[in-house]
Amino acid sequence: MSSAAAFIARQGCVIPMPDLQPRLREIPQISAVLADARLAGFLAGRRRMWAGQVVQQQCDALRERLRDEAGPVRGRAELHEELVTAAVATCQGLLRPAWTKVINGTGVVVHTNLGRAPLPAAAANAARDVSMHYTDLEMDLQSGRRDHRGRAVERKAALLAGAEDALVVNNNAAALWLAVRHLGRGGPVLLSRGEVVAIGGSFRLHEIIAETGCRLVEVGTTNRTTVDDYRRALEPGALVLKVHRSNFAMAGFTAEASLADLAAMCAAEACPLVYDAGSGLLVEPAELGLPPGESVLAADVATGCDLVTCSGDKLLGGCQAGLVLGRAELIEALRGHPLRRAVRVDKSTLAALDAVLTAYLTATSLPDLPAIAALAAPAERLREQAGRLRGLVEPNLPGGWSVAVEQGVSSVGGGAYSTTELPTWLLRLRGPREELETCHARLREQDPAVLVRLNQDGLAVDPRTITDDEIATVAAAFAGVWATSGNRDGKRG
Ligand SMILES: *Cc1c(COP(=O)(O)O)cnc(C)c1O
Repeated sequence: MSSAAAFIARQGCVIPMPDLQPRLREIPQISAVLADARLAGFLAGRRRMWAGQVVQQQCDALRERLRDEAGPVRGRAELHEELVTAAVATCQGLLRPAWTKVINGTGVVVHTNLGRAPLPAAAANAARDVSMHYTDLEMDLQSGRRDHRGRAVERKAALLAGAEDALVVNNNAAALWLAVRHLGRGGPVLLSRGEVVAIGGSFRLHEIIAETGCRLVEVGTTNRTTVDDYRRALEPGALVLKVHRSNFAMAGFTAEASLADLAAMCAAEACPLVYDAGSGLLVEPAELGLPPGESVLAADVATGCDLVTCSGDKLLGGCQAGLVLGRAELIEALRGHPLRRAVRVDKSTLAALDAVLTAYLTATSLPDLPAIAALAAPAERLREQAGRLRGLVEPNLPGGWSVAVEQGVSSVGGGAYSTTELPTWLLRLRGPREELETCHARLREQDPAVLVRLNQDGLAVDPRTITDDEIATVAAAFAGVWATSGNRDGKRG
């Protein structure tokens, strides 16, 4: 919209620019659009008011488009067709589920945009079962009395992390917020300047702390913070917070106070210590083939932090949830906090998390969880999968393309092990740049959608995050994309 037209629109006047008049005059009456037989199915019935709103919105959007349109004035019949087609497509889209299945060929295991850790069938089934029936969510069946929801799940989490008690909330952001709000009591919160981090788009430490009603006291410098820095900044009623840097790493002239050193200082100074561990690792990194460096939850708890928080859907491999682990009387106080209800989870979340934690309790080696399996996938299996995919893809390969199985790297994702590269085997596809880009985009439009990597070296499919039975589907998606682009631009016969 031109700025003059925008100004007029803001004033609520309907004085279109003179050259717009003939264009806007051709916009069909809403009633005429609504009367079109193709929309009848969506509009009939008392509850179909929404479809009328869709048509109204399409008309408004068309008016906006016409303001910016150049070229010959389009006639009413054409605009009518455009409106009806768009409205039918929108209405059909609204009747489909909001999400669609995506095959993750990126090799990023905890991919936040793709929903982080996938759940094992046992957890999904548990969530489904508990959702479809009444359940003893908040009742002790033996006594018939009311009970705290989630007690059984929280006991499992506490045992696995070696903590006295645990509390499950909506996510780690909520866990940290509640823990700091309760323990900080509106006082100073000491945090290293190197840990005032942003995680995802909206989780920024200084803002979260502001929302707890506490006052952030930055300690040390961006690259170096020592225990003495904390000690010097201590004041009565202070809380010490340590945050895992998760999604970035620092190199060069750096120093940080270890959790153990902070725990010792806090114990000596009788000052509470909260640690945001981020990813919630419950097994030793070496078991997953990850380099040392990340601590497991049990080790964090054992250092003597008052409270440790983490996510349920990162390296723990479960569903979206936040865990607060630590001293029993503190957890009990959090449970009774007036704002806990605002961050509590649904029964389906509790059921899924319960199944995931049970997988840890029963595991003889690694728990049977998709994210854990993807991290621990042996190189031979990845090579074999890439080879299988190559065999299926190669017969349909367009002219001018090549395919190969090559060594590459996957990443952990989810703000954990930000600099760690997991060796993997990739299916690499090279071809004309434009065709690679088109293919990359069209794969996302397949059903299920397929996400792969695109970089200077071409397309890459990482089998680490693809299950065995998805391999054939990925191959079919490539074949589908190539078949249609062949028809469209006649590149293939
Ligand atoms: C991921 C992460 C969070 C946010 O966790 P959510 O479960 O997404 O709320 C907070 N802190 C750290 C250190 C993280 O890595």
